[in-house]
Amino acid sequence: MDQNQNKGPNNEGPKNKQSLLILLICIMVVLVCVNMLTRMTGGASNEIPYSDFIEMLENGEVESVVIQSSSLEITPRVQHSMGIQSTFYTVPTEDGNEVTKRLEAAGVDFKEEKPDIMGQLLYGLLSIVVPVIIMVGFLSFLFRRMNKGGGMMGGVGKSRAKAYVQKETGITFKDVAGQDEAKESLQEVVDFLHNPGKYTAIGAKLPKGALLVGPPGTGKTLLAKAVAGEAHVPFFSLSGSDFVEMFVGVGASRVRDLFEEAKKNAPCIIFIDEVDAIGKTRDTRYGGNDEREQTLNQLLAEMDGFDTSKGLLILAATNRPEVLDPALLRPGRFDRRVIVDRPDLKGRVSILKVHAQNVSLDETVDLEGIALATSGAVGSDLANMINEAAILAVKNGRKAVSQKDLLEAVEVVLVGKEKKDRILSAEERRIVSYHEVGHALVSALQKDSEPVQKITIVPRTMGALGYVMHVPEEEKYLNTRKELEAMLVGYLGGRAAEEIVFDTVTTGAANDIEQATKVARAMITQYGMSDRFGLMGLAETQSQYLDGRAMLNCGDSTATEIDHEVMKLLKKSYDEAKRLLSENREILDKIADFLIQKETITGKEFMKIFREAKGIQEPEAKQRVEAKERPQIALEEPAAEQSLNCTK
Ligand code: ADP
Repeated sequence: MDQNQNKGPNNEGPKNKQSLLILLICIMVVLVCVNMLTRMTGGASNEIPYSDFIEMLENGEVESVVIQSSSLEITPRVQHSMGIQSTFYTVPTEDGNEVTKRLEAAGVDFKEEKPDIMGQLLYGLLSIVVPVIIMVGFLSFLFRRMNKGGGMMGGVGKSRAKAYVQKETGITFKDVAGQDEAKESLQEVVDFLHNPGKYTAIGAKLPKGALLVGPPGTGKTLLAKAVAGEAHVPFFSLSGSDFVEMFVGVGASRVRDLFEEAKKNAPCIIFIDEVDAIGKTRDTRYGGNDEREQTLNQLLAEMDGFDTSKGLLILAATNRPEVLDPALLRPGRFDRRVIVDRPDLKGRVSILKVHAQNVSLDETVDLEGIALATSGAVGSDLANMINEAAILAVKNGRKAVSQKDLLEAVEVVLVGKEKKDRILSAEERRIVSYHEVGHALVSALQKDSEPVQKITIVPRTMGALGYVMHVPEEEKYLNTRKELEAMLVGYLGGRAAEEIVFDTVTTGAANDIEQATKVARAMITQYGMSDRFGLMGLAETQSQYLDGRAMLNCGDSTATEIDHEVMKLLKKSYDEAKRLLSENREILDKIADFLIQKETITGKEFMKIFREAKGIQEPEAKQRVEAKERPQIALEEPAAEQSLNCTK
């Protein structure tokens, strides 16, 4: 969250007033209760019949008497055993003179008390007026709250947009690294905001809204802020979910409120994050909801209603454009769609540079190497990595961040911190070691190149007991069928090693199996890589910008056939992995033993043993260095591929 957000001017005040009012009401209620209680128990006065009083007088049990206007307060001679001064009162049935005579005859002290008319009047008045004041105060408090939200309960209809108003975001396009295409599309919008007259003069209509589409953390919010910063206009921001409440009509009232406020401040930018929360299609396929639909209708109406020449622009962000209502996307509303996708290699380098600006780096740092190692990472991941590296450097007592810190930070972000307190038994260490070497060896045997940056059997906090970091030589956008098949064999190499060496299998391959199945399924249903189905598309990608999940788009019997095909492909790959490892059992044992001893080995050490055992000559020293310095952990490419193999 930004530190320089202006809290709405009226936000704190009313809250304080409300709590003060509630406090006052509570105090009053307590006072009235106490008052009533004391009245009820009033002086522990016990009423006795007049006949009892006469009897007490005759028996000489009365100490003194106070004659009040209509009653007698009697203090008895014998007091309560606990020492409490108790009195009785009684209402005389004879007139005052008779009573006085009786008292004189009994020789009892007595006095007459003048009635305190004022006190009684005040008491009576207060006991009526105070509760009335409390009731009126409470009702007017309720009434005022109801009035606030355009008639909705408890002011819930009030737009909370004010809380996020920023007069100047202070962010410009320079702060957004990469995303050149997105910046280019938005540059025009900035110009519109800056100088609307230029466009209206020749009759051009200004755009009303732009939809920023992309995976989470790619910088959509940052871009929207940069647009406001570049144009030097206020930035109203709120999330789609802020609109929708339990009560129908609240969202619509909030939309109205937001636009009203924004129109007063035009030119300005309204930014609605996660717009899919309100903009979901009204088609019942995704579930209907009255409140959401009303809110959406209001949004559509407001977007139609405002005059763009004033310089009001709506930016919205989503990572699920496919669920948005078509009415929202038609020209005249969010007619521009700006794709903010995962950054490529160049983009990642520049994002790392932007975030490393204020961090001291030493001479070993090669941000390009880190960018290569983080294919698939988004801007927020990279920002997080730089920060983790800086924290690591401080922890190790250094004044500047080194390349080692950065590589460690990459691992911390991807697989968690080293879990030093998890002690694996000797047998488990052997299994994990063989499993990881199985992955790496299968890759090496298939490619005959240095397959890994690092193999480790130090458990990590995110659940991996060990993992293999891969070393692609360059960023790839396409994969051939052969490469995908090799990838499947690589995924299953871990499980194959377990079976060959221990003649049993463990739960450690769950993640590999999941990944391999995803790739195999995608090959058959999406990439047209099966002989049986040929080029028939059998699945559609659902949430392209989220998990990229594919939904089958075929009949039930075809789905069964697909399952058989997937099974066949996985079995073939597993057999191949087993064949490769059985034929190279000696190398597998050697490297696994070495890994058990060292816990973490580098790709170089791996290849040294591998080449020695195979009798292959070491390649040129220069090439080796280059390969070593270009590590990569592929996060997500293509669709389901993940070359970071973890055992869990
Ligand atoms: P989104 O709205 O797409 O989920 P954000 O805009 O909130 O993502 O980005 C989160 C953080 O990630 C930003 O505050 C910024 O630090 C970092 N970030 C993301 N993309 C970029 C980028 N292209 N350049 C610089 N920083 C970025």
